[in-house]
Amino acid sequence: MSESNLKDMSELVSLCKRRGFIFQSSEVYGGLQSCWDYGPLGIELKNNVKNSWWKAMTYREDVVGIDASIFMHPTVWKASGHVDGFNDPMIDCKNCKERYREDQIDTAKPCQKCGEKDSFTEARDFNLMFKTRMGPVEDSSSDVYLRPETAQGIFVNFLNVQSTMRKKLPFGISQIGKAFRNEITPGNFIFRTREFEQMEMQYFVKPGTQKEAMEEWKEIRWKWHLDNGLRSDMLRWEPHGPDDLAHYADAAIDIEYKFPHGWGEIEGIHSRTDFDLTQHQQFSGKKLEYVDQADNNKRYIPYVVETSVGCDRSLLAILCDAYRIENEGDKEKERVVLKFHPKLAPIKVAVLPLVKKEVLDAPARKLFSDLQQDYKAEYDVSGSIGKRYRRQDEIGTPFCITYDFDSLEDDSVTIRSRDTMAQERIAIDQVKNYLLNKLKF
Ligand code: ATP
Repeated sequence: MSESNLKDMSELVSLCKRRGFIFQSSEVYGGLQSCWDYGPLGIELKNNVKNSWWKAMTYREDVVGIDASIFMHPTVWKASGHVDGFNDPMIDCKNCKERYREDQIDTAKPCQKCGEKDSFTEARDFNLMFKTRMGPVEDSSSDVYLRPETAQGIFVNFLNVQSTMRKKLPFGISQIGKAFRNEITPGNFIFRTREFEQMEMQYFVKPGTQKEAMEEWKEIRWKWHLDNGLRSDMLRWEPHGPDDLAHYADAAIDIEYKFPHGWGEIEGIHSRTDFDLTQHQQFSGKKLEYVDQADNNKRYIPYVVETSVGCDRSLLAILCDAYRIENEGDKEKERVVLKFHPKLAPIKVAVLPLVKKEVLDAPARKLFSDLQQDYKAEYDVSGSIGKRYRRQDEIGTPFCITYDFDSLEDDSVTIRSRDTMAQERIAIDQVKNYLLNKLKF
């Protein structure tokens, strides 16, 4: 069976719309650039990605979770360096006014939009934080920011979590939440948007042990992407050289995925030193030290190794990787299939009565409602069985169950696997066991 991958992002954008994964935001008003809404299947997939991360990153003795607020005290962003330094270099084409991020284009070449040569302005710093006002007051004392990363909510809660959970170093705090960046050039579907979700973990360690911690987390994080079904040849490491290290980091490396538009970062693993906690200690005037009982009650500010993955970017990589066209060009046999890892599939099982007849409908619905107690399931009676299989293939449902006339006699159903298309006949009272075995992870 020949198989080809996604060649162009527009194919995926159209499938995502057609099948209820992702819609353009405010579409009836013509849309809002780079803002997207997750539809019924998209949110299932997204929740499954988050669960997969949450399980890997908090079901461990040394890591706990939090959910911090999006608005934070404005001084947080002074201390973290975002107010003064969270900038991208912006340039404009003097001819057509197109805006670019200077570090993303070759400025020696003509403008990509209008073709004009030597038309770029000097680069200016553009701060990526969204500013808004809190409360009814209209002066600058009420300015607050939409957080540009979730990490700071963890740093300012370091001692709250450490003391209430009685954690000893090394330990980590995980969080999933929205972040906002006023990106100069958003695009490539959900790859770069101005509102997105991050899944971040800050791992607090004794100074001097950060290198080992970073190596451990690199391995864990690489494996997480493989465990989600991404193919290893579609992933690579991209270390940051000394010139592109962030001001707070002593080492950093990205995991990149080979998107149709090229290699792009999906996760960063950063050794953030004691920069953030030291800054917050200084700006707040509150001690943020750890008392190390294992080392003569020495007091120090821990070092931090961070793992930071974009939920939407990771989901985009999962969608791109799962997308396959089988037997392309063969009218009879061609099918588009999303080969999700079953744990991520939005719908786990579909129940399909062979034909639309009352006599099949009642028992098939009974099976459906039984299965729904344990799995996100779909019931579909419309169209030929072949069409219904194709529809489920296209949304990545691992199993379809067909209830036919024989089922009335032998209390059995046919289960079809998405990937092999093999069909098995199984007693109805064994269906739950069958799925339990196939869908356990
Ligand atoms: P980039 O270089 O692509 O702008 P970054 O290095 O600024 O990314 P980080 O600050 O390390 O990104 O953020 C961690 C993760 O958050 C990234 O690996 C990515 O998955 C996600 N992320 C960052 N910016 C965006 C965005 N604008 N849209 C979607 N996801 C994002």
